[in-house]
Amino acid sequence: MPAGHNRKPLQQKNIDYMQIRPRVSFVFSLVFLFLFHFEYAFTQEEKSGNQYLFNDSHFHLTNYIQEGISTQKLLELMGNKVGRSTVFGIPLQQQWSYANSGDFAPDYYLETDAPLYYYSFTDAFIAMEYKSLTKKQQARLDPMITGFNPSDMYGVKHIERVLRTFPGVFTGIGEFSIHKEFVSSKVSGEVASLTNPALDSILNFSGKVGLVVIIHNDVNFPMASDEMKPVYLDQMLDLLKRNSGTTIIWAHVGLGRIVRPFGRIVRPFSNDGATTPSGVRLPSQVEVLEDILQDPDLSHVYFDLSWDEVAKYIVASEESVENTAKVINRYPDRFLFGTDVVAPPSEDRYLAVYHMYQSLWDVLTPEAKEKVTKGNYSRLFDAAQEQVRAWEKANLNK
Ligand SMILES: [Zn+2]
Repeated sequence: MPAGHNRKPLQQKNIDYMQIRPRVSFVFSLVFLFLFHFEYAFTQEEKSGNQYLFNDSHFHLTNYIQEGISTQKLLELMGNKVGRSTVFGIPLQQQWSYANSGDFAPDYYLETDAPLYYYSFTDAFIAMEYKSLTKKQQARLDPMITGFNPSDMYGVKHIERVLRTFPGVFTGIGEFSIHKEFVSSKVSGEVASLTNPALDSILNFSGKVGLVVIIHNDVNFPMASDEMKPVYLDQMLDLLKRNSGTTIIWAHVGLGRIVRPFGRIVRPFSNDGATTPSGVRLPSQVEVLEDILQDPDLSHVYFDLSWDEVAKYIVASEESVENTAKVINRYPDRFLFGTDVVAPPSEDRYLAVYHMYQSLWDVLTPEAKEKVTKGNYSRLFDAAQEQVRAWEKANLNK
């Protein structure tokens, strides 16, 4: 009886076990396959960056008084929306002149008449922020050197010193400014110029090392007439041509808050600004842009679409969106998106510029949109990283 009593449940148990085991292992296999597949799919997706909205080719971690957010905070803001980002401060510090604004502490260059000065410590600050991160976190960021004076023949020495002091950190230089509305004229000391050999030595050295260059240079002075040739256009093109071995991103396509796209009003004109009966007219910004994009001597030049102040021109009308999209669709390898936000306090503020460009994203071809928002960043900055690390390896102990 005890045996019989025991046998039945035992048998029952055995039968159940025999029946369940294949099912269990089948389910386990499914779960394993699913997890493996998911893991594989995720890493592939992660590698291609497809799940992200964009990579950010223009980002300021700190502001004009060298304050901002940490790289940890930046990575939080990037989250699963932004894949990779450049990281730079601002090379200029706004002086708080008590004589000028008293107890009011300005944190933007428009808030006081006091001068700005070059603040080299920004590079050490950015480097230390980057070095505080894990390798995995670092892989999403490309720090840039900005704390040099581009009108100083010793400026290039600063860049080299930063590379030697912080090997394995930097991918490029910039954003730095030559002509910038409201800013250039406020900088203490010699005014920067596109014709200064100090600038050539910086661009030349960057080419040798493989550093990507992000240069801000307004193509014209503020509020200029639509019927004049932009003052700095030829100087800029000459500079770019003299430095063909360097990867150069011309920030904001040469525009600013009040440096507007030129040639919007199409009227006959002559070089001295007077209208002529011959019907000669100034090429528009888009036409000049196309000339640059077609020129084999300028194939090392790229443009960033960044800054809300520039987005406003592009999204101003259906026509301006269409004209911009046409050029980008024709030359999708030559444009990069960047936010140009400064130390954003929230995700909304961080992503706002990307959303401002939405009407442009809507009319780009899928290929162009992918390249402008992500692909071109990866291509240029991966290549630069590789070259800069190689230069450091070859030169650091000399
Ligand atoms: Zn900027």
